[in-house]
Amino acid sequence: MTAEEVKRSNHDLEQFAYIASHDLQEPLRAVGGYVKLLQHRFPQKMDANALEYIQGATEGVDRRSRLISDLLAFSRVGARGGNFQPASLEGILNEALHNLQASLRSTPAKIIREPLPTLAVDATQIMQLFQNLIGNALKFRSERPLEIRIGARLEPGRWVISIRDNGIGIEPQYFERIFQIFQRLHTRKHYPGTGIGLAICKKIIERHDGAIWVESTPGQGSTFHFALPATAPQPTPDHEHSHATTR
Ligand code: ADP
Repeated sequence: MTAEEVKRSNHDLEQFAYIASHDLQEPLRAVGGYVKLLQHRFPQKMDANALEYIQGATEGVDRRSRLISDLLAFSRVGARGGNFQPASLEGILNEALHNLQASLRSTPAKIIREPLPTLAVDATQIMQLFQNLIGNALKFRSERPLEIRIGARLEPGRWVISIRDNGIGIEPQYFERIFQIFQRLHTRKHYPGTGIGLAICKKIIERHDGAIWVESTPGQGSTFHFALPATAPQPTPDHEHSHATTR
């Protein structure tokens, strides 16, 4: 296969994933709806076993629909990305924090912010990136009161934005693996999730010609860094993806 053919087949696969996940949502919603109807319409006819089965089915449907909506978000990064426009990362971060309001109410966190630059980005995607990274800091917190620091530094040709938490941390052998789709270090019972969040972050950053990586000390906390070009880049057309960049 030539490089051109590989690109095209990646593009086709991306479109397929997008359409398949989109189309799977509908039947799943229907199944979920009927199961809930059963529960609400015939409560007196249900014995404990029946109710338990219904609960099992409902949980299964909910889990799959979370998975599908995450998969949809993943395939959307390439298949449905927007244009790059100069945007204040401050404003984007404010919006991400606003969307995390409910989680921040149940998990109070001290958020320490440095000024952030204005860069040419797909604002919706960078907001999702902030949301995923800060959402993870909330989820993987330790016993200590949670503190999240968001900082930015200018390096030659690029801005590096860092999100540091004082949570459970990550063992060094997993630093690369966690950015792959479906890779998680915990069971669903301990921490809910689908293992797609960081894969979405990586895809977003690759589309921006940037890099994303993590530093962490287990038991002390993690810092996720992402770098974005300081000069205005053009979005990589979705059939011309750049190579994997972890640093
Ligand atoms: P999910 O959160 O659904 O598990 P992600 O792709 O967002 O999926 O993260 C993958 C894994 O990386 C997580 O399951 C967790 O083990 C680890 N991880 C991500 N962010 C953090 C963090 N801030 N602190 C500790 N571990 C993290």
